[in-house]
Amino acid sequence: MKLKMFTAGSLADALALVRQQLGPHAVILHTRTYKRGGFLGFRAHTVVEVTAGVGQRVGHPRLKLPIAAPPASNPPAVQALPANSANSLAQQPSAGDLIRRTYALAKAELARNNPPPPAALPVQPLPVAPASDQRLPHDQLAQEVQAVKRMVASVMRRQCSPSPTAAPPADLPGSLFDEYLRLLQQEVAEELAEEVVRKARQELSNHQLADPAIVRRILRQQVASLIAADDQGIVPGTAPDGRPRTVAFVGPTGVGKTTTIAKLAAQFKLKQQKRVELITLDTYRISAVDQLKTYADIIGVPLHVPTNLQQLHDLVSKPRPCDILLMDTAGRSQRDDKRLDQLQASLQAAQPHEVHLVLSSTCSQPAIFDAIERFSRIRTDSIILTKLDEAVSFGVLFNVARKVNKRLSYITTGQEVPHDIEVGRADRLAAMVLGEVGAE
Ligand code: GDP
Repeated sequence: MKLKMFTAGSLADALALVRQQLGPHAVILHTRTYKRGGFLGFRAHTVVEVTAGVGQRVGHPRLKLPIAAPPASNPPAVQALPANSANSLAQQPSAGDLIRRTYALAKAELARNNPPPPAALPVQPLPVAPASDQRLPHDQLAQEVQAVKRMVASVMRRQCSPSPTAAPPADLPGSLFDEYLRLLQQEVAEELAEEVVRKARQELSNHQLADPAIVRRILRQQVASLIAADDQGIVPGTAPDGRPRTVAFVGPTGVGKTTTIAKLAAQFKLKQQKRVELITLDTYRISAVDQLKTYADIIGVPLHVPTNLQQLHDLVSKPRPCDILLMDTAGRSQRDDKRLDQLQASLQAAQPHEVHLVLSSTCSQPAIFDAIERFSRIRTDSIILTKLDEAVSFGVLFNVARKVNKRLSYITTGQEVPHDIEVGRADRLAAMVLGEVGAE
């Protein structure tokens, strides 16, 4: 749940709004202030992020409060845009919380009724008793725990992924089952979650299974091993064919191609002192050329705007004093077959050494998969996942990385140029998938 407030006020104003929305018993759990938007620090606005709840651990509504400078003549304006009723949602634990709590209670009950035998005592086999025997709650409780597990798994699967096919992994040891649920909560696809816990189960001894920290570590390793991350990103320099490394960025409209190119251009030029040049093929929209031109001017790199395929070919095939050529392509709809053909023709003329498919993590998973399908006509080498700062969970990152089966070269984590971009690193991505770290 999000609430946005635009105010010229301070953190105190933000806290007052929290109380106003969540009532006098609101508890501030965390505050954070950061810059957002803008370019190279200019015209960025300050965002105060307040995480608050009502009472203890009943919910963590996140209130993002961007602070914009007000016109000098106006008093500070406060405009609240609540997406939901903060009070009612804050007081209701989610379905996932309830399920987890039920499962934890059943487990605790089992543990209470069956304390482990003292280490010094010889282990005696338990007498076998009929299932109805009230004096032996262990079997009964164990069965109940299994039933709860099955129920939890099926509810989670129905909530998170609609596939009814696979059997619930109710025989998983408790610690791994918890991790399985965590993966589903992160919206990892069911079959992927099962694959990960199954592989982790093979790695773990019974002794290790009792240690949640070890279980988590092995699970993180399993997730990381399934993500083909780049770890290095684009490396400027002369390619083996003698041309500057030429990299094209393709993808649906609005996913963040131009912004990503600006981030990379600024990093290569300002941090690595590389000779960078930009090309845009997005001549359909004047605003798109203007957008890249503005970035090019600020960063101080040339922008080429070839108007036909011959010009493009001449541009990229001549030797030039340049380390990296970054090529923006038209932000066209992937539904437009004719334009996809034109894109393909442009790429044939430009002969890029690398083509990165840019996808936005804020799109629904079916929309992302649809884009992947459409762009499969185009040769792509890597994927870039953008807008992870706005993603609700990171399971989609894992699902997409597995579906495409291509290197994940970069992720982007905000609108700020040039900072909000990082090379895809499997260990960090795995920690994000498991919900251990955010996109900051
Ligand atoms: P293009 O049409 O694919 O070239 O997309 P643009 O680069 O023009 O970006 C579209 C919008 O997405 C702009 O408002 C960008 O500021 C925004 N954007 C780009 N990258 C990110 C990101 O990592 N996080 C967020 N939140 N917004 C982004």
